[in-house]
Amino acid sequence: MVDYCMDYLSGTLPAEERQSFDGHLAYCPECVKFFETYKKTPEISREALSLEMPERVRGEVRSFLRQRYDKQP
Ligand SMILES: [Zn+2]
Repeated sequence: MVDYCMDYLSGTLPAEERQSFDGHLAYCPECVKFFETYKKTPEISREALSLEMPERVRGEVRSFLRQRYDKQP
């Protein structure tokens, strides 16, 4: 889950995944606020991201990933 966020922030997430997550961000101000802060941070470590991710954002990303992957064949 944290890896997914790291990939999103570092731009290594595949375009399709990225679009899908952007779709979530479009209606989730909690995530937008968090990710915008981190996009401005030049060096992010997985540990720092994990520690600083608010519980709400954590839950949001988890349920996003769950929904997304449940839909996969
Ligand atoms: Zn969210």
